[in-house]
Amino acid sequence: MQADNSSLTPQTSLRVIPRDQHNVSRKEISPNALRVLYRLRDSGFGAYLVGGAVRDILVGGHPKDFDVATDATPEQVKGLFRNCRLIGRRFRLAHVVYGREIIEVATFRANSDDGSGDRETDTGGRLVRDNVYGSIEDDAVRRDFTANALYYAVEDFSVRDYTGGFEDVQNRLMRLIGDPETRYREDPVRMLRAVRLAAKLGFEIEAATAAPIPHLAPLLADAAPARLFEECLKLFLSGHAVESFLGLERYGLLSALLPESAAALKSNRSGALRRMVLEGLKGTDARVAADEPVSPAFLFALLLWPAYCRDLMGLQAQGVHTAEAQRRAADRVTLHQLSTIALPRRFSLPMQEIWLLQSRFQQRQRKRVFRLLSHPRFRAAFDFLALRMAASDEHASDVEFWREAQAHPNELLAQQEAQSQASAGEEGEEGDGRAPRKRRRRRRGAPVAE
Ligand code: ATP
Ligand code: MG
Repeated sequence: MQADNSSLTPQTSLRVIPRDQHNVSRKEISPNALRVLYRLRDSGFGAYLVGGAVRDILVGGHPKDFDVATDATPEQVKGLFRNCRLIGRRFRLAHVVYGREIIEVATFRANSDDGSGDRETDTGGRLVRDNVYGSIEDDAVRRDFTANALYYAVEDFSVRDYTGGFEDVQNRLMRLIGDPETRYREDPVRMLRAVRLAAKLGFEIEAATAAPIPHLAPLLADAAPARLFEECLKLFLSGHAVESFLGLERYGLLSALLPESAAALKSNRSGALRRMVLEGLKGTDARVAADEPVSPAFLFALLLWPAYCRDLMGLQAQGVHTAEAQRRAADRVTLHQLSTIALPRRFSLPMQEIWLLQSRFQQRQRKRVFRLLSHPRFRAAFDFLALRMAASDEHASDVEFWREAQAHPNELLAQQEAQSQASAGEEGEEGDGRAPRKRRRRRRGAPVAE
């Protein structure tokens, strides 16, 4: 351990938690990460597991990725590993590659605010450049939360704590290192990280860390949309979507992240839309827990559905024809959201399809039923319909019909046709399968699925 006392930041004091007083076991660390740690140490460098992995192991989790911090420079790391490549221009990082597993090795890094000019903030206090190497203490204090700034030392298996993170983890608290407002201004995404990590770990956000969030939330509008997209996936597709959503709501971040949906949720007095979103997120969490795939398209269809519904109603109130209104609402909501979150087209297009398919569930003509059943987005759109029903049982008969239609399409349609022929008398259904308007309307409400 080579502590560089000259750069010791005032608020740090080292606490060493020996192996017998913590539960970070090598069994929980990937063999490749251990390999990297040992090679660095055997070559005379400081070598620590750091960040989310240490934090997660301390709370009994099983981390998937492992970050290493060292006093070796990226070039020195590269010299030690044949399977190493250097990445990043702003700040060089070493990636040691073992098949699909990448161990990220970062050289201790400082937030040099000593006026040396290597760290820049813009007029709002946002960090635009920080690329200075530093000591382990410097590296600790430039991290965001105390729980994320714990170092597991491979030389003696101790945990090194410079910011009080060990105690915060025991007390299940997310606490920012340093002055919270300054740290949020440097990087507004830290507000989302606070909510996300609290949701993931079941932690509370410590009072002083939570306090500035509601009034700084609008700063998120300036964050990079691509980064916010990635952050959204972590918020909602990691198994704690409901908790994330409640946290975002609680701290006023939902309006910053999904402004139109947040507004639509506020104006939806019955609360049906919010119930539906929560129900959908609950389903997402259940799928993640069961190791089933989850799709960003479905997620965003859900998150932006309130905005879509509100837009659609507005357009219809202006007299725009339904099909046209649906298309325009879908486009507008997508376009507006893109200024905050860079939702790639490969997700926004299927998201829109899920919305637009909703109105087709009311159509029961044979040809259309089969066409919809074979639509590539049918299953997602149907699951979405079922969610809408869960929130307000308005769509119960549609859900029932389409559930049957998937299981026994031919029987169902034969039965349905017999029924409609009996009730329609002389009006036979021919040709393109399009029923006369009057009969279509009547059939829509009928208990077709019996
Ligand atoms: P998870 O992997 O569960 O998302 P994590 O804490 O590992 O959580 P990463 O984005 O992988 O998150 O970041 C790794 C580490 O880098 C963090 O633990 C933290 O120490 C540091 N870090 C990440 N983002 C920031 C940030 N915005 N500001 C300061 N430090 C950060
Ligand atoms: Mg991580």
